[in-house]
Amino acid sequence: MIRTRFAPSPTGELHIGGARTALFNYLYARSAGGQFILRIDDTDAERSRREHETRLLDDLRWLGLTWDEGPDIPTDIPLRQSERGELYARWMDKLREQGAVYPCFCAEERLASMREGQLARGEPPRYDGRCRSLSPREAQRRIEMGERPCWRLALPEGYSAAFDDAVRGPQSFPAGTIGDFVVQRSDRSPTYLFASAVDDYLMGITHVIRGDEHVPNTARQLAIIDRMGWPRPAFAHIPMVLSSDRRKLGKRTGSTPIREYRERGFLPEALDAYLATLSWTPQKGTNEGADPFDLKALAASFSLEGIVRSSPVHDEGHLLHWQREAMARRGGEALARELAVLEPRLAPFRERLAPLLEEMTKEHPFLMELRDSLAFLAERPAAKREPWMADLAGALSSLEPWKAEALEVLLRAFMKERGLKGREFFHPLRLLLTGQDSGAPLPLVLFTLGREECAARLGLL
Ligand code: GLU
Repeated sequence: MIRTRFAPSPTGELHIGGARTALFNYLYARSAGGQFILRIDDTDAERSRREHETRLLDDLRWLGLTWDEGPDIPTDIPLRQSERGELYARWMDKLREQGAVYPCFCAEERLASMREGQLARGEPPRYDGRCRSLSPREAQRRIEMGERPCWRLALPEGYSAAFDDAVRGPQSFPAGTIGDFVVQRSDRSPTYLFASAVDDYLMGITHVIRGDEHVPNTARQLAIIDRMGWPRPAFAHIPMVLSSDRRKLGKRTGSTPIREYRERGFLPEALDAYLATLSWTPQKGTNEGADPFDLKALAASFSLEGIVRSSPVHDEGHLLHWQREAMARRGGEALARELAVLEPRLAPFRERLAPLLEEMTKEHPFLMELRDSLAFLAERPAAKREPWMADLAGALSSLEPWKAEALEVLLRAFMKERGLKGREFFHPLRLLLTGQDSGAPLPLVLFTLGREECAARLGLL
């Protein structure tokens, strides 16, 4: 069975890039009747916060992504890395027994200057293996003297990593590009590289779908996986989302937390549909008539082959397009119901609100904006009444049926009969009814206000 996972570090908000990774993992699992697992990568104890985790889960739920195993689902297996310490310790012991790791006593300063030198020479930074040659007895002596080493994986001589990426194709890391890396810190906590490899194995993860900034990690994690003789999962590295100036999307470069979009009134289905377009296109013949706002339909057409290699650019204009479409798809009746809850003063107009809302969502694709622009329904604006307005109210009082089409005919006929120009007629009328200079078509406004309210505003009552 296909098992995917999303493994966020609870060190901040869920952003566009992370949400897309979660969505792709979710869709791929669901596309194959598989399972989607939410794991919390909190090996970085200093930066990880439970509040962040709570918000992450909440945002993922809001997006409609449901998981089969996660930190909130009671099981025997903890889904937070911080609670899996014993498991990692056990596998560390195995590595030690096999002589696959060695203690490293090198000081931070030595490592830092080595790294600097390598970078200056244009070489990939890597550990030079100095402590690898320490005899076990010498290492033991130093530990007994109170030194606290970290532990590094002893890569096989001339180790080169190669794997076939489901998105990027064959990847290879020639010998010498990777050095012996740390699997256990000097405080005995596991590094992300180690914990994540152990977890993917123990959790039976079949497909690791994650951002392509993790490609170098994959080369290292494969060294652990191979050394332990575990089956390799398939890897799919998705291209990083870029900001509009084509830089990596980061906190300072146009990345907005999902939460902020949520608070601005974006609909979850709009975000999902948009996120799905970031690096994925449906393969020919898999998407006939699929509804982009329905996660089930999206999953049905999702495949790893549909992931494109080029980096997508985060574009709020596109997101807004999906928001408009999503609002239109919700339809006037549903929006009217939601609006009446959001603003109880609009509840009396609920029955007649749908057509006006459908018209207005084109310009105001957010419920909050709709609420604000429709405040005039609940509050009579103060504006000048023209002498002809009472007559118009009279004509309206006997109009049948009370429909926007009939209202439109009546307004035009009235204007013509009075010999008024368009501007002389519509502008003061709109101002009186809505307090605004422009807006939705007036017949729709009148229809929504209702016969009595129109009469009251026009001065008949
Ligand atoms: N915690 C890692 C991150 O947030 C997860 C990487 C992975 O998917 O293995 O990037």
